[in-house]
Amino acid sequence: MVLGILVGKLFGLGVSKETDTLINLGIFELSLKGFFVEGIFHVGGQIFITSLKMLVVPLVFVSLVCGTCSLNDSAKIGRLGVKSLALYLITTAIAITLALSVATFIEPGQGFTLQTQTEFTPKPAPSFVEVVLGMFPSNPIDAMAKGNMLQIIVFAILFGIAMALSGKAGERLSALFFDLNEVIMKLVAILMNLAPYGVFFLMAKLFTYLDYLAIEPLIWYFLTVLAVLFIHALITYPLILKFLSGLNPVIFLTKMKEAALFAFSTSSSNATMPITMRTVTEKMGVNNSVSSFTVPLGATINMDGTAIMQGVATVFIAQVFAIDLSMADYVAVLLTATLASIGAAGVPGVGLILLAMVFQQVGLPVEGIALIIGVDRLLDMTRTAVNVTGDSMVSCIVAKSEKELDMAKFNKPM
Ligand code: ASP
Repeated sequence: MVLGILVGKLFGLGVSKETDTLINLGIFELSLKGFFVEGIFHVGGQIFITSLKMLVVPLVFVSLVCGTCSLNDSAKIGRLGVKSLALYLITTAIAITLALSVATFIEPGQGFTLQTQTEFTPKPAPSFVEVVLGMFPSNPIDAMAKGNMLQIIVFAILFGIAMALSGKAGERLSALFFDLNEVIMKLVAILMNLAPYGVFFLMAKLFTYLDYLAIEPLIWYFLTVLAVLFIHALITYPLILKFLSGLNPVIFLTKMKEAALFAFSTSSSNATMPITMRTVTEKMGVNNSVSSFTVPLGATINMDGTAIMQGVATVFIAQVFAIDLSMADYVAVLLTATLASIGAAGVPGVGLILLAMVFQQVGLPVEGIALIIGVDRLLDMTRTAVNVTGDSMVSCIVAKSEKELDMAKFNKPM
């Protein structure tokens, strides 16, 4: 990752128009940037991300079917659902509250002068009924083709329950699913070996084009989001983990390193899901019956980092446009940001689309989003790492409370 950042910066700074030509045959010209950045780095990085994404739908479906059919206790399925949902919602609410409070204290929008006005067209926020109805697939194949995670989760759970109730046929089928699960996890392990190259390519391409100058006028906004992200990951999570499950937060954070780096490089909790799953099951000892449910659910509905950006952005834009927010507005931010994140997939940049919904809800100018778009990529990377850390933490807490956490594995040094 560090090498990729350095190489990208070098290409971004060092390759001028004059030195850019690699081959010039008159009719055929190849530039250094064209060859390395658009050729090697772009292609390498995309192949890596695409391969990760390729695993997500089969992994979620197969592991969740295995997880559900091995639970053989319908009350347990309900408990898992309630516990994870409650924890996901509570941690997101804490994240937004923290962001709103810190941003109100720091006042990142003070002294910011508005120069340009740009258009930004928002989508309306989904209603609660739409979110609930959207979870049920009328066609599971369509849900898989579109990668609609909540619909896949619902189908997989129903399928797993039916399998557990189907006697001999269910047993035969479950043997097949368990074998499939092993093969898919093997595929994840194989892909992990290519990770250093993939991450290098992704970083090199990104940092070639990253516009550092865009950060300068927004430095207070940028730093406030970063500060709250770090507070949440390094203080809130350890406290919650220790308090609710007694697990050692230092071990947890150390084992999170790899998945967080993946999330940072890909900016997508969805694409990172195979790695998150591997981390919580193989390094932290969470049983597949829990992780197969909590990890995909978290990647879709739990976005604490995104909520933090939304909280800070709301305060920032309100200050820039000199709009006073009431307590009711803050509550509306909290509810809309949480609800909007439920239906949104963890892909790069989705946080800004959700933010537009939040702004619309509280009557902030949606054009404000255009102001912060320029610095969003780096923040997106960092908040995705926080999102993934939150998913893993909830998985550990739920597993511990259900006695599905292998403590020896959790405490084992890496
Ligand atoms: N990129 C984030 C994720 O995948 C979502 C966002 O905040 O844009 O979790």
